[in-house]
Amino acid sequence: MATDIRPMWRATVLTLFPEMFPGPLGVSLAGRALASGIWQLEARDIRASATDRHRSVDDTPAGGGPGMVLRADVLASAIDAAGCDAGAFSSQVGTDSREENAVTQESRRPHLLMSPRGRPLTQKRVRELVEGPGPLIVCGRFEGVDQRVIDARGLEEVSIGDYVLSGGELAAMVLIDACVRLLPGVMGKLDSGTEESFSDGLLEYPQYTRPQSFEGHGIPEVLTSGDHARVEAWRRAQAEALTKARRPDLWAARQAPGAPKNTTDG
Ligand code: SAH
Repeated sequence: MATDIRPMWRATVLTLFPEMFPGPLGVSLAGRALASGIWQLEARDIRASATDRHRSVDDTPAGGGPGMVLRADVLASAIDAAGCDAGAFSSQVGTDSREENAVTQESRRPHLLMSPRGRPLTQKRVRELVEGPGPLIVCGRFEGVDQRVIDARGLEEVSIGDYVLSGGELAAMVLIDACVRLLPGVMGKLDSGTEESFSDGLLEYPQYTRPQSFEGHGIPEVLTSGDHARVEAWRRAQAEALTKARRPDLWAARQAPGAPKNTTDG
């Protein structure tokens, strides 16, 4: 029998506010999975890498303007220290070849920067991140971070939407939460992640539960018919109608050549 030798999925977060973690990631699905060791969370204080007397992490923007910018040197050492500590950990527990594997793994971890300028996060990217060892995530604050550290450490900028937060921590939590619920063993039913919004480029169909009648409104008859084929067809039609009406962008992407199609549209 093959043993799964994949190391545990791990999120490393670099932040000026490590006390914000696990926060909401410590409750419900993600929290139970964290407690039972399905995934690991490491929140590291960027300020620990500050070198001057005042432990400063930011400075005024070159060229002028409001606010402060996270320094490239401090952030780069915080990123490098996270990598070194992971290597040191593996050498305590592993043989030479395992140690090499762990170090290689570490260098292959996606290095993300939460940023409103980034590529918008999608369920597809979430699924890719779940397949890997888990990301290292840099949380910006103030006006953002010095461009040179983004370039020098190859940070992939990821946005959670077209609005501006005061820091990257909530955005990192959003990304981690989306990943963790897809890890094997986290969701109750094995396949409860396969039929939901975006899984097939469609928004999810409407859901109903008891009571049978709510303020005079019943449940669509087909859902109580016990006819699985009819239920399936109804749900598919609803998902398509909702997607067309609410997200013409998603619908158009689905109709594009090469997009996965499994539709009742013909
Ligand atoms: N001046 C920057 C915004 C800085 S907001 C700009 O105009 O682009 C401070 C930090 O919050 C950012 O560095 C980033 O880490 C985080 N942040 C803000 N909005 C975000 C979003 N939509 N997605 C991901 N991270 C975001």
